[in-house]
Amino acid sequence: MLNTTTKAQSAEPVLARMENYDHEQVLFCHDRTTGLKAIIAIHDTTLGPALGGTRMWPYASEAEALSDVLRLSRGMTYKSSLAGLDLGGGKAVIIGDARTQKTEAMFRRFGRFVDSLNGRYITAEDVGMSTTEMVNILKETKNVAGLPEEMGGSGDPSPVTAYGVYCGMKAAAKTAYGTDDLSGRKVSIQGAGNVGRGLVELLVKEGAKVFLTDIHDDKLAAIKAEFPAITLVQPEAVYDLDVDIYSPCALGATVNDDTLKRLKCSVIAGAANNQLADEAVHGKAVMEKGILYAPDFLINAGGIINCSWERRGYNRKAALRQTEDIHQTALRIFKASADLGIPTYLAANQAAEDRITSMRSAGMRF
Ligand code: NAD
Repeated sequence: MLNTTTKAQSAEPVLARMENYDHEQVLFCHDRTTGLKAIIAIHDTTLGPALGGTRMWPYASEAEALSDVLRLSRGMTYKSSLAGLDLGGGKAVIIGDARTQKTEAMFRRFGRFVDSLNGRYITAEDVGMSTTEMVNILKETKNVAGLPEEMGGSGDPSPVTAYGVYCGMKAAAKTAYGTDDLSGRKVSIQGAGNVGRGLVELLVKEGAKVFLTDIHDDKLAAIKAEFPAITLVQPEAVYDLDVDIYSPCALGATVNDDTLKRLKCSVIAGAANNQLADEAVHGKAVMEKGILYAPDFLINAGGIINCSWERRGYNRKAALRQTEDIHQTALRIFKASADLGIPTYLAANQAAEDRITSMRSAGMRF
């Protein structure tokens, strides 16, 4: 996945940028009455309808919003392809301040735009959105996923995401240490959020030595009360710990020039999106440093897998079962990376592209 956009790229005309990323369709949505300004990007629908969340963010410019939606939608294509889902990649961004600018009318208007795509794009919750907005969108279109359980949806995806990260981490351990047993392994987790908490639970159960950090002390204290055996650390100290596995579950771009000088781990496996600050540069750098990097979009797919089951009649057990496949896929990607001498992110990208190409050549287009 591309996760960097240069200044020159963001000045390019829209169609040139779509060509660069190979996007199918970009819909610019404007409504003067409600103040809605949104962009919906459909990257690829070879495998199925483009599913991806809507993000509301006060982007500094339209160019920045467009960069984000193009990059994120492409990421969704890769994530769903690798997870073996019959879904394409899409994403939407609404330009605005989520704290002050939300209205029922704005989100219903946005729902109409989603509906105008006739199912080619299915939206879901992302940064800056809440159930209230999803309910308003749902009034205008049925093409909404990831709803709360009380609304007939699949509910909070975080525990399933955590389980997928755990399965991917075990595959990385198997490749790096010859065993996927995590008991006694020292694992640092950055982020005591929804996914971080779920991961702590799974790792403590297996007997791993967990180090946890967050910028919010109350979140740390709550998890420590549940799992007294874990060790709490300061946010900046997480990069200097002597651990086997570093698990970024908070922010993107934490694998960068600075942290790579400090990290002592031999595996990186976490939930955060876009962990490599510059995919090409730091994907190669981790490999050269002898660190096995489990690509984020490969091992954090539990959430989208969970969400995809809404379309087939939601079944939590089946979602968890399918999430376990991340283990085998990760082993396959790590082997391809070693055999070909290429970074793991590249091996994962190639596997995602291969599935799409083979379906496209078989005429299996959505
Ligand atoms: P969350 O918001 O519940 O938790 C994130 C936590 O990170 C918060 O507790 C926050 O205080 C902490 N944090 C922020 N900056 C930090 C810093 N500098 N150092 C340490 N901690 C910091 O989010 P989540 O749902 O647990 O998701 C975690 C990550 O995984 C996010 O990057 C998210 O995009 C990604 N992800 C989540 C899912 C899912 O199903 N929830 C799916 C795929 C990817």
